Amino acid sequence: MFADVTEAKAYLDAIPYRQAAHYRVGRLMPVQFAVVHSMESSEHSMMAEQWQAATATWDRISSVNFGVDDDSTRSCVHITDTAYHCASGNRNTVGVEHTGRAAQTSADWLDPFSKKMLTTQSAPLYAALSLVTGIPVRRASVDDYVLSRTSASFDVKRQGGLLGHIDVTLAAQRLGLPNEGHWDPGPNFPWTWFINEVASHLPGSAQEVHAMRIVWHPDIGTNPATGMFARLLPDNRTVRGVNGAMIRLGATGTPGREVVLPFEAEAIGPHPTATNVFLAAEKGGKRTQGLRFA
Ligand SMILES: [Zn+2]
Repeated sequence: MFADVTEAKAYLDAIPYRQAAHYRVGRLMPVQFAVVHSMESSEHSMMAEQWQAATATWDRISSVNFGVDDDSTRSCVHITDTAYHCASGNRNTVGVEHTGRAAQTSADWLDPFSKKMLTTQSAPLYAALSLVTGIPVRRASVDDYVLSRTSASFDVKRQGGLLGHIDVTLAAQRLGLPNEGHWDPGPNFPWTWFINEVASHLPGSAQEVHAMRIVWHPDIGTNPATGMFARLLPDNRTVRGVNGAMIRLGATGTPGREVVLPFEAEAIGPHPTATNVFLAAEKGGKRTQGLRFA
């Protein structure tokens, strides 16, 4: 969990760096997306190191900002410079190469090696990138990428996010821009799970209050409540059914009894800033006294 941008920047700065042989100094566009790649490699714990070493010396005009395996992250191109990782998509993206293959099954992506890589290396890396660059932690789409290259009103806070290399490929094909036809990280990359893992490293994210245990307070109302709502504080944003950090609440309770509220973050919006959550019940159109959880 990063407390703020300063901590996220320190995390990025501490990643061992070795300059790639090929990259472009500076950027033609601001960073708007973070791309997920797979190295098309077998799973072993020296892949990030080997990828970094190869990138530093090879003749191939190819590079990436970061590489990860299950116990390390390595950096090859600073995020203020442009890595050559997705052809025409390089200019407004940062890229992360993951140990593994695009052909992996869902089970492969959640095997012990991959799960450790995604939770201990990749998720904090994307969270730090999000905080430092302003890319929201959300699964962006091919349409979003197309808009980034065609619309003057593109809004990174709403339309930026994480993409697979495949998404950049499809967008480039639609735009008639150069692409390599790459389809990594493949159709079975666990996007929903992974986005939540990344969001869990953001300050004040909805993840902090997942399945919170509470004592059902008499003031909340009687069983069953006909509606539940939550607000992320301090911006007092109602999060149910609106864009941004959306939380689905589903619970009924009995006064005085401990319950677990099984709420689920459907989409983590641009940098949730909540430091706590306000919960209350609604019955017959009447909102009852809420409780605030730090
Ligand atoms: Zn790729």
